[in-house]
Amino acid sequence: MSDTVHAPADPRYDAVDLHCHSLHSDGALPIAELMARAQSAELKYFSVTDHDTLRGQEEAFAVAKTQSINYVSGVEWSAVWGSYLIHVVGLNFDLNAPASLEAEKAQVRSRARRARRIADKLEREGFVGVREWLSQQDDAASIGRPHIAAYLVESQQAKNVAQVFKRYLGAGKVGDVKNEWPELGQVVQWITAAGGQAVLAHPHRYKMTRTKRTRLVADFAEAGGQAIEIGVPGVMPDMRQHLVQLVQDHELAGSSGSDFHHDEQRWLALGKVPPLPKDVVPVWTRFRTT
Ligand code: AMP
Ligand code: MN
Ligand code: MN
Ligand code: MN
Repeated sequence: MSDTVHAPADPRYDAVDLHCHSLHSDGALPIAELMARAQSAELKYFSVTDHDTLRGQEEAFAVAKTQSINYVSGVEWSAVWGSYLIHVVGLNFDLNAPASLEAEKAQVRSRARRARRIADKLEREGFVGVREWLSQQDDAASIGRPHIAAYLVESQQAKNVAQVFKRYLGAGKVGDVKNEWPELGQVVQWITAAGGQAVLAHPHRYKMTRTKRTRLVADFAEAGGQAIEIGVPGVMPDMRQHLVQLVQDHELAGSSGSDFHHDEQRWLALGKVPPLPKDVVPVWTRFRTT
């Protein structure tokens, strides 16, 4: 990092970021760079929540020892709820608990198998070289749909990543292979059994009716989930109000995170999350930290 003098924490944001990605999943930056940015933003609590892997966590804890932020363990597990793909963020759980080890083993296997199934489906659609490309990757378990989309763009078989999602990989499309993932209740249990907080990720982003979203949050709370994300860039006022209502109905806490992946996401930045509504209990007040 440069030797710039960093501005003090900005009062427009809560000094936490409990959702972001490194290059261990579909983020662009290494753990060390994320940690440096979190330190620059003077965050009080920080977590890197890669998709379906715990791989970056030890390094993050090691770096945090040299910093003033409280680092908490993090992950974003994929799950299904009915026909929906749902993401559950796990925070502040024991990385070495049997449930965490079991979870990672299962999710890594699911992700690698899913990548192969997506590759098969895309080749059946007429795309070429997808299986070959996949077999050349060091680690199929770290491959997500964004990587596959990027391959199709790089090999000039598609115009851009957004178009690949829209036509082939997005919800309901041929490459949207969900049935490898466990049920919502299973992933919640993996997190809570390891002493962590289970957080329903970006509830505003699932394409479902208000009634469905209400039922999802009820099922999530019933399964033992403790919080839902509210302090997230891009949540509109009426949605924010709905989420506050759901938190109150089920005595949940609120969580906050940027979901930062890379600098091309110009509308957001690591460590810049809108403050939680005043009457919502922040999930980070429930963390056990050493
Ligand atoms: P996966 O983890 O393989 O299921 O891929 C899901 C990830 O793809 C999300 O976490 C986002 O980072 C990314 N993503 C989802 N929808 C889109 C989209 N329309 N365009 C680009 N990236 C997307
Ligand atoms: Mn992602
Ligand atoms: Mn997600
Ligand atoms: Mn995410």
